Amino acid sequence: MPLILVLGGTAEARELAAQVPVLSSLAGRVSALELPPGEVRIGGFGGVDGLVAWLLEHRPVAVVDATHPFAAQMSRHAVAACRAADVPLLRLQRPGWTEQPGDRWTRVPSLAAAAAAVGDRRVLLTTGRQAVEPFLALTRVVLRAIEPPEGIPASWTVVLGRPPWSLEAERSQLVEHRIEVVVTKDSGGPAAPKLQAAREAGLDVIVIDRPPVLATNVVPTVPAALAWLRPWMWT
Ligand code: NAP
Repeated sequence: MPLILVLGGTAEARELAAQVPVLSSLAGRVSALELPPGEVRIGGFGGVDGLVAWLLEHRPVAVVDATHPFAAQMSRHAVAACRAADVPLLRLQRPGWTEQPGDRWTRVPSLAAAAAAVGDRRVLLTTGRQAVEPFLALTRVVLRAIEPPEGIPASWTVVLGRPPWSLEAERSQLVEHRIEVVVTKDSGGPAAPKLQAAREAGLDVIVIDRPPVLATNVVPTVPAALAWLRPWMWT
């Protein structure tokens, strides 16, 4: 079988790996990894140079960058390395969320801008434990995280768990923690219960815009990625 490398860590990457034989690559940042079906490699490549060396050694016929929309460094490295090693690259990225009637969203360009927009309100922070640094000056924070974070202020509350959270869980967290504003990345994907719960409660939501897509070939869904891969799958 021709080797197809999928840069993963998302539901779309796991779905793709369930449909075609690929080698899935994970960063290995969380200890309780959700493994995709099939072959898996874990850990960084060592920057652009490391990825170029890996591509030249293993000679995949194509790379699918199915990382999270906010995994900007990996995506940037994939563009540079695939160009250098002359390997076709596809970016599989789900569409972002769009505002619904009743939503009270403020879109901001960065984590720092989100922190500034929170002000002194009690915030539910859903951007993940690796994105807390810009918020450290805030005191009234409820942080959601998959694993216990380190180095956060003593005044913060941490809610541990793995997304997706149910609508019931979202509703009760907003009430239990007396949340006044929600911060989220524009991760996209299926309608997010946190956005629905905030809408129902009439809460402000600060939505952080995605970093730009640098790849040339971009598709929004797994079926579209499969269609792009077809020429290599039966050669
Ligand atoms: P990042 O900042 O873009 O990447 C940092 C470094 O981690 C990369 O330079 C690379 O190391 C390594 N890396 C990232 N993804 C990798 C992969 N799939 N396979 C091998 N190495 C990888 O990434 P991140 O935002 O920390 O995200 C890490 C992983 O978590 C990604 O796979 C992403 O899909 C997933 N994820 C991220 C988010 C988010 O909000 N950022 C949310 C959900 C899931 P080297 O330079 O050494 O190659």
